[in-house]
Amino acid sequence: MLKQFDDIRPRAVVRCRSAEDVAEAVGFARSHGIRCVVRSGGHSFAGYSTGAGMVIDVSGLHRIEVAGDVVRAGAGAQLVDLYDATLRHSLAVPTGWCPTVALGGLALGGGIGLETRKHGFTVDHVLSATLVLADGRTVTCDEHRHPDLYWAVRGGGGGNFGIAVEFAFRPVPVGDLLDYRLTWPWEDATAVVDAWQRWAPDAPDDLASVINIGVEDAGGGSAPDLTVAGVWHGEPAAGERLLRELTDRVGRAPASWSATVRDYRATIMDWFDCDGFTPAEAHLVGHNPAARIERYAFSVSRGGFFDSVVPAAGLKELLAAVTDRPFAGQRRDLNFIALGGAGNRVAPDATAFVHRGARFYAGYSADMDPVVPEHGPQAARAWIDGAFGTLSRWWSGRSYQNFMDSRLADWRRAYYGENLARLQRVKQRYDAERFFDFPQAI
Ligand SMILES: Cc1cc2nc3c(=O)[nH]c(=O)nc-3n(C[C@H](O)[C@H](O)[C@H](O)COP(=O)(O)OP(=O)(O)OC[C@H]3O[C@@H](n4cnc5c(N)ncnc54)[C@H](O)[C@@H]3O)c2cc1C
Repeated sequence: MLKQFDDIRPRAVVRCRSAEDVAEAVGFARSHGIRCVVRSGGHSFAGYSTGAGMVIDVSGLHRIEVAGDVVRAGAGAQLVDLYDATLRHSLAVPTGWCPTVALGGLALGGGIGLETRKHGFTVDHVLSATLVLADGRTVTCDEHRHPDLYWAVRGGGGGNFGIAVEFAFRPVPVGDLLDYRLTWPWEDATAVVDAWQRWAPDAPDDLASVINIGVEDAGGGSAPDLTVAGVWHGEPAAGERLLRELTDRVGRAPASWSATVRDYRATIMDWFDCDGFTPAEAHLVGHNPAARIERYAFSVSRGGFFDSVVPAAGLKELLAAVTDRPFAGQRRDLNFIALGGAGNRVAPDATAFVHRGARFYAGYSADMDPVVPEHGPQAARAWIDGAFGTLSRWWSGRSYQNFMDSRLADWRRAYYGENLARLQRVKQRYDAERFFDFPQAI
């Protein structure tokens, strides 16, 4: 997805079409002492799905089958195709809002999206996973078969225990949604974020809500835009009442307000930033002849989970960081994603996904596209490290293992918390020789 890792040149890229191909590639790599990493959708923020050895690419394992109340999908299936297939049956597997992310990475590490507060994280819907292990065996784990592996693959993160080739999911029924978008001027930002952080995480499960604070060019001079957006899965009038509750709490009228009932397919395509696209078009250029999404030149992001309300003084610091160290040619964002609801009613040790007490996730990102200015990457990293330093005065110390951050100091604790020791035991059991390894491998 990100062009910034293109200068890493693997010795070989093995494009697999079946679990047998994957097992053969693993056997070849083992017998020749070649290090290998696996790639499904190629969206690792830290570039951990490429390397100097062998890349085992499972994007060709993308078959999706909806049979009654079970959805089976290959690890290479991308989110737009998963939604397309399941929505034909008025079903969805709760995943995320990027069309080209693949299940291989997403479903092993968590999965946050429009259905998280109502139905839980993607990992909460995994009924079974089939993996090719380091010794070449193909095993299916579920509640009864390899239960320790089944526990670990639901949050342990990609690239750790084996190569996932297929998942079975429990989908959820879906219907029309109230799709809403409210904006406020930048000077109201502290009041909006303060009201939102007390409102969204405690709202009924039917609410999905994010705040985006974005500045198109961080060269200075233009104020960031502030949008509160999301969906309401319940009865529209109740959703509108809840939105009015937010605006009352903010105490300042929004500059714009839209709340429209839309069918699920149109809504998710809009959230994919693919409004009006066909599913075939909502792929990266090169994936198929119709694909229209271009790969990004450069992106860096850092963030973490928040377990409690941030005082207004802290919010002011978080917001001020957005415009700190101006640099022309960078797009900057600060996003808040509301959690709570169904995802937090699962015990932190029921699956390897430990982040069950978070009220919200907040993260900064800097993007440059299509032009990366001279000194752009250093400037973006310097800015984001400063902003992250501010954020880490207020966060819970926990970070999302699907937003891998190569500069995170205590990443083991941050991604896995009290589940770390058990994950290390599972790693020892299934991959004692660390055949599957990368800088932030368990
Ligand atoms: C633009 C963008 C938008 C995103 N949006 C969301 C979102 O809405 N919600 C959300 O929760 N996350 C989101 N993410 C994060 C995403 O979930 C992770 O980056 C995820 O790891 C990507 O999976 P992938 O298969 O596409 O990536 P890859 O780069 O292929 O894989 C990511 C990691 O998993 C490993 N891996 C990949 N496939 C397998 C496999 N089959 N078996 C074992 N290990 C494997 C890789 O080796 C690598 O370490 C987003 C990321 C990006 C870049």
